[in-house]
Amino acid sequence: MSKKKLIVIGGGAAGFFCAINAAMLNPSLQIIIIEKTSKLLSKVKVSGGGRCNVTHSCDSIATMIKNYPRGENFLKKAFHQFFVSDTIKWFAQRGVQLKTEADGRIFPVTNSSQTVIDCLVREVNKYSIRILMNKEVKKLSMMNDEWSIDFANDENILADYVCVACGGYSKSIQFEWLKKLGHSIEEPVPSLFTFNIPGDPIKALMGISIENVIVKIVGTKFSQQGPLLITHWGLSGPAVLKLSAFAARELHKEDYKFSISVNWLPQYDEQTLREKFLRLRNELASQKIINRNPFFLPQRLWEYFLQRSAINENIRWADLPAKQQSILIKILCVQEFQVKGKTTFKEEFVTAGGIKLNEIDSNTMQSKIIPHLFFAGEIMDADGITGGFNFQHAWTSGWIAGNTIGIISNGSTE
Ligand SMILES: Cc1cc2nc3c(=O)[nH]c(=O)nc-3n(C[C@H](O)[C@H](O)[C@H](O)COP(=O)(O)OP(=O)(O)OC[C@H]3O[C@@H](n4cnc5c(N)ncnc54)[C@H](O)[C@@H]3O)c2cc1C
Repeated sequence: MSKKKLIVIGGGAAGFFCAINAAMLNPSLQIIIIEKTSKLLSKVKVSGGGRCNVTHSCDSIATMIKNYPRGENFLKKAFHQFFVSDTIKWFAQRGVQLKTEADGRIFPVTNSSQTVIDCLVREVNKYSIRILMNKEVKKLSMMNDEWSIDFANDENILADYVCVACGGYSKSIQFEWLKKLGHSIEEPVPSLFTFNIPGDPIKALMGISIENVIVKIVGTKFSQQGPLLITHWGLSGPAVLKLSAFAARELHKEDYKFSISVNWLPQYDEQTLREKFLRLRNELASQKIINRNPFFLPQRLWEYFLQRSAINENIRWADLPAKQQSILIKILCVQEFQVKGKTTFKEEFVTAGGIKLNEIDSNTMQSKIIPHLFFAGEIMDADGITGGFNFQHAWTSGWIAGNTIGIISNGSTE
């Protein structure tokens, strides 16, 4: 009986994980990874600032899935098969120790993404998985129970199983070869970007970060709490990046022109802050408002708020005019900004959209439309926020696809 063959399209995290885990279960399976560029695992290399943020510490699947604006329910099922703890164990068993940082992000103890790459390449060599570089897959077709994989240079290759792990595409047209298989696509749009606020004086405070704010998109349900960073272009930081991810599709529709409101003191709303001001006026009565910033906000930001409220910096708390106080309270609780445009967050850019999840079986990563066709990684319509969530999705889906192919190619079950 001739050997079964698996073709994995894409030499990234998901493709490598699929190939290696399939080979582990069925060493007699012939496996080839096809990569269109001259580089393997290029995103792993640059990820996490060259340190590779492999995954994110998380004890429960219910908490984990809240970090995926798209694919939450699909991944809930998938994580039951291969979760964060499995990723840590998988790498540890192959000599890559991981460490968890204070914010939950997990990196190799070496602080080098090369450690992860070396491990994956070692495994590929161990199982004699072949790699073909500089070959772009242009067409997939099924004939007589066999896949034909056609390359841009008119060559082709036959296989029993195909796993598409070609990452996210930013333009709909790039999905054409997959649409021809009968699969449908959720239109790709950027996720994880920062908000440009041209002309706003707050940009003079670039470099200042605030530990905890609430940012809302006015007129929508979208709201996020967390650190905020003022940049040369506008606003960034975890709260903004999360908001951009969860509202990616809606903001794309608005052509990135929308209003946000920032609550700089999330522990207060306008009513409770008014009460706080009453107390402050008594407690700090004789102190100059500029010198006595009672909310532990960065001093330059406090001065900016006083200027925006037309408050004389030399005034004492007791003499703060009622009108100016109202303006200051409003600014502290609901300061509005007009966003016009976005800046790509190059540190960890992902595309939202891809193969529709209702066409993929989350237990196997197999297409529900064509048998022996599998998907793994960012090509699917699932994506996470920053912090290692996107790689976890790549490891999980790659592992499940590889596992399924390893089992069915052995003839155990189908
Ligand atoms: C700069 C940057 C930093 C990041 N940092 C992190 C991080 O620290 N933590 C985290 O969790 N996520 C991070 N991400 C996101 C993460 O890298 C991706 O979600 C992840 O790499 C997706 O893995 P993948 O294997 O699905 O796709 P990819 O890594 O994109 O791999 C797909 C491969 O397929 C190839 N390919 C595409 N089309 C074809 C074709 N037709 N034929 C043949 N080959 C093809 C591509 O060239 C590519 O090599 C980062 C992303 C970027 C851009």
